Amino acid sequence: NRRRDWQWKLAHELTDRFDVLYFETLNLKGMQRLWGRKIGDLALAEFLSILEWVAAKKSKRVVYIDQWFPSSKTCSECGYVLNELKLKERQWSCPSCSTEHDRDLNAALNIKSVGASTDSLGDVRQSQTAIAV
Ligand SMILES: [Zn+2]
Repeated sequence: NRRRDWQWKLAHELTDRFDVLYFETLNLKGMQRLWGRKIGDLALAEFLSILEWVAAKKSKRVVYIDQWFPSSKTCSECGYVLNELKLKERQWSCPSCSTEHDRDLNAALNIKSVGASTDSLGDVRQSQTAIAV
C-alpha cells in the first residue's frame, strides 16, 4: 500500500511539472532475469500504468521510445555510438567529442530528444531538463 501511495503521488508530481513524459519501453522480463528481485520491487510497469491514467486525466502525454534505441551508449552531444558499455560503467567519455557523461543523465537526454523528434516537437537537445525512470 505504501508503494502504491508513493506511485500515485509521483505520478501527480510528474504530470504537474511536465506536459509530456518520455520513457524507454524497457524489457522488464529481461532486466528481472539479469538483476533478480530488485527490478520487480520497483514495479515499473505498475507505476507506468498509474502514470498513464493520471496523465490522461490531466491531458498530459506519456510517450514511449523504441526499446532497442541505444540510449545509454549514444553520446547526447554528438551522436557517436559506443560499441559496448558495460552495466557497471556509470560514467564514460565520448571518444569523438570528449564529453564526459553520467550514464543515466546521458540516457535521459537521448530518450527526451528521440521522444521529442518522433513526437514532432523538434530537437530539444539544448534544454537541460531531463527526467528518467
Ligand atoms: Zn560525443
